[in-house]
Amino acid sequence: MIDAEALKKDFPILFQEINDEPLVYLDNAATSQKPQQVLDALNTYYQRDNANVHRGVHTLAERATAKYEMARQKVKTFINAKETAEVLFTRGTTTSLNWVAKSFGEANVNEGDEIVISYMEHHSNIIPWQQLAKKQKATLRYIELTPTGELDLASAKKLITAKTKIVAITHVSNVLGVVNPIAELTEIAHQVGAVMVVDGAQSVPHMAVDVQQLNVDFYAFSGHKMLAPTGIGVLYGKRSLLEKMEPIEFGGEMIDFVYLEDSTWKELPWKFEAGTPNIAGAIGLGAAIDYLTEVGMEDIHHYEQELVAYVLPKLQEIPGITIYGPTDPAKRTGVITFNLEGVHPHDLATAMDMEGVAVRAGHHCAQPLMNYLEVNSTARASFYFYNTKSDADTFIKALLATKEFFTNGPF
Ligand code: PMP
Repeated sequence: MIDAEALKKDFPILFQEINDEPLVYLDNAATSQKPQQVLDALNTYYQRDNANVHRGVHTLAERATAKYEMARQKVKTFINAKETAEVLFTRGTTTSLNWVAKSFGEANVNEGDEIVISYMEHHSNIIPWQQLAKKQKATLRYIELTPTGELDLASAKKLITAKTKIVAITHVSNVLGVVNPIAELTEIAHQVGAVMVVDGAQSVPHMAVDVQQLNVDFYAFSGHKMLAPTGIGVLYGKRSLLEKMEPIEFGGEMIDFVYLEDSTWKELPWKFEAGTPNIAGAIGLGAAIDYLTEVGMEDIHHYEQELVAYVLPKLQEIPGITIYGPTDPAKRTGVITFNLEGVHPHDLATAMDMEGVAVRAGHHCAQPLMNYLEVNSTARASFYFYNTKSDADTFIKALLATKEFFTNGPF
C-alpha cells in the first residue's frame, strides 16, 4: 500500500509555493523529482568517493568503480536481465535507441527491408528509424491505433511480415498513457525473425518490468523519469545480439589493446561505454532503484491506476473536455492528456501555473500522433506515486478555475 502523503515528504522540492500557491507537480512524464535519498547518494559520492572508474588502483578509484558497477548490478536485478553484461549505461532513452538503430540497424537492415513502429511513438523512437530507413533504403511502417487510442493488434499482425527486420514500440505512451502488450508483440516479431526494441521511458518508472519474461531483444529507458539525475539511462540488450554489434563511440575505457593501425575492444558491457562515464548519474540511478524497490513497483502501478480512476471521472464531468487514450484506468498509467474546448493548451498550462499546478502543453515530442489525433497540441497532467488525492483535487479545482477564467473573464 502506498502512503503518498508520507512518501511525498522525501521530496524536498515539492514543498514550495508557486505564485503564492503550494506546488502541485504533475509533469512527471517529462521528468520526475528526486527524493532526499538520491540527493544524499550524489552528495556522498562527490564528498567522499569521487574518482575516475576502472583505471585507478587507489582507494577512491576502487570505491568509485565499486559503486558504479554496483549500480549496474541494481539495474540488472530491477529489470531482471540475465547478467550485468547486458546492461549498458547511456545518456538516456534517446541515446539507447540511437545506438540500436545505428549499430544493430546499419549492420542488419538492408534495401527492401522494413522497420515497424507505431503512430504513438515519441520522436526518439521515430527519427532514428527514419534515418536508418533512409540510409539503408528500407521502409518504415506505422501500426494503426484503435479509436480508443490503443495499439491495433490486427494492424500489427498485418504489417509485421517476413520483410520486417525491426519492430520498435513504446511500452507506455507518453501521451495516451496506454500500456502496450509487449510480450504479445515480441512473439509476433520473433515469428518472422525480427528483433523487438522497446522504448521503456514511461514504463520502467511506473511498473514492474521483466525483460526476460517479455523476451524483448532491446529495452531502453531514462534515469531522470525514475527519480535519478538527468544524463543517465540504460540500454538493455540480449548478449547474443550485443556481442555481434560494433560500438558507436570509440576512445578510452572501451578498449582492450590499441595498436597503431587498429584496436580491440573490451568485453561487454564496457565495449560500448567510451570515455569517462556519468559515474554520479549511475550511482544516483542505483539509489533511485533502491528507493523504488522499497516502495514496490507493483504497488506504484496500482496506486497510479487508482489515482487515474479517481481523477478521470471528475475530468470527464467537465463540459468541453476531450480526453485522449483509453477510458479504462486498468489499461493506463498516470498520464492524462486532454484538451479543453476554446482554450489553447499553452494558455491552459499558464493559467494552471498561476494556481501552482505544473502541467505540460504542446505536442509532447509526438507530432505524428498529434496529426493522427487531428490536434495541434494538448495539455497533459502526469502523476507519480508521490502525488496525493489532494493533488488530484487541486488539479481539478485549478482546471475549473481556468475554464471559468477563459469563459467569463475578467476581460
Ligand atoms: N520515449 C518516451 C515515451 C518518452 O516519454 C521520452 C521522454 N519524454 C523519451 C522517449 C525520451 O527520453 P529522454 O529524453 O530521456 O532520452
